[in-house]
Amino acid sequence: MNTHHISADTHELPHPPEQEKPRKALFANRPKAYPKWIVGRFRRMKWAVMALLLGLYYLAPWLRWDRGPGAPDQAILVDMPGRRLYFFFLEIWPQEVYYLTGVLILAAVGLFLATSLLGRVWCGFTCPQTVWTDLFLMVERFVEGDRAQRIRLDNGPLTLNKIARKVTKHLIWLAIAVATGGAWIFYFNDAPTLMGDILRFDISPTILFFVGLFTATTYLLAGIVREQVCVYMCPWPRFQAAMLDEHSTTVTYQAWRGEQRGPKRKTESWEGRGDCIDCNQCVQVCPTGIDIRDGQQLDCIGCGLCIDACNEVMTKIGRPGELITFDTQMNQTARAAGQPTSGLHIFRPRTLIYLAVLAIVGGVMLASLMSRSDADLSVQRDRVPLFVQLGNGRIQNSYTLKILNKERADRSFEMTIPALPQAELSLVGHEEEAGQAATLTVKPDSVGSYRIHVRMPREALQGASTPVSFLLRDATTGESYSIDTVFLGPK
Ligand code: SF4
Ligand code: SF4
Repeated sequence: MNTHHISADTHELPHPPEQEKPRKALFANRPKAYPKWIVGRFRRMKWAVMALLLGLYYLAPWLRWDRGPGAPDQAILVDMPGRRLYFFFLEIWPQEVYYLTGVLILAAVGLFLATSLLGRVWCGFTCPQTVWTDLFLMVERFVEGDRAQRIRLDNGPLTLNKIARKVTKHLIWLAIAVATGGAWIFYFNDAPTLMGDILRFDISPTILFFVGLFTATTYLLAGIVREQVCVYMCPWPRFQAAMLDEHSTTVTYQAWRGEQRGPKRKTESWEGRGDCIDCNQCVQVCPTGIDIRDGQQLDCIGCGLCIDACNEVMTKIGRPGELITFDTQMNQTARAAGQPTSGLHIFRPRTLIYLAVLAIVGGVMLASLMSRSDADLSVQRDRVPLFVQLGNGRIQNSYTLKILNKERADRSFEMTIPALPQAELSLVGHEEEAGQAATLTVKPDSVGSYRIHVRMPREALQGASTPVSFLLRDATTGESYSIDTVFLGPK
């Protein structure tokens, strides 16, 4: 027994013995999720979306598109050496990268709109992480069995059967990962040619590196990390709440109908209790392993599988379905209060803003595509010296003119300055005499660069800076292109 003495000299009080406070751990391992097999309408929708997206991903690089001789015939191709992006009838040059910016804006705002209307449909059905995780889970279920068998296998001793199943699963996962990494590379190379090279084991280290990289990321993210990507790594769930309101549909447990929950015998009455029989089926099918009855959670990807599971249970026990349902907060509040519900409110201030942004960006892109030219001009005036006064009294300015010829044939342009007929043009490095016109030829599918001297009599100038417009006329088609600049002279 501990005794404490009080010192008469110091009158010190004894310190009470230090109490060990229980410490709460700041880290806990995430319990592994073993999603159970379920059938139902959302599961069927997920299969259909998965088949469509995987089919598109693996087959798209094999689609052909005839662009004429000398041009690649792959419908979708990112040609890095040629610095070109091909998408069916579109050919995007590096100078037109703003089209990609437009597509990214459309995709982002489209995602905002879909989220504000239908909640996390992107996460639950179409996100690549969801699609590939679903595919890997399908393999796991096929090789190791459904939830109960998988748990038993993981907790059981290391047997030959366990080793064989684990090795088989990981080999199939690796095969899918290689196919995924390989398919990605086909978007950057001519797919049939690259496939031939692969079959002959004639692959460059760069291709090998990227196939390895995408294989490793697919295997890790879809096979090993799985739902933890959605819960811990992905930023989208963190800010998607900003797009949701009481009119957005989300997966909801109808607590007003389900509580008080609890197990129920067949002979017991439904009086004074809720419809939830606490069977945990909704938790067992959940790919992120959460309980939707705890309310809206960051971990819920909105896949609807708990709805399928609960509907199956409700059918078995003879209660109405949709105890867990896709619904709006507004309707849920109305249902709980026994009031009539309203339909989906598509047009609300936030959705109208998203629709307006989509319409504006889409409209601008469409207009820009329609008025797209098959040649682009850029001009740069020499800054040193600003101008040169020639012996004959004329003033000379020099320019570098670049002509982008997007056609796959030589083009010849006649250049003039129609508003200033006194102007003389001469091409640096060309023999022709200076004259009112100069002929510029540009090779197919390339940029032609010319240095041009322009000379003008002093009296034709409008002070120190005279606006000029270069006009280029295609000698074959008669099509004209113009670009504005200035001609500088003495004050
Ligand atoms: S709670 Fe339901 S909707 Fe949410 S992730 Fe789990 S199964 Fe999918
Ligand atoms: S599946 Fe339905 S009945 Fe079973 S625990 Fe979940 S909510 Fe309750």
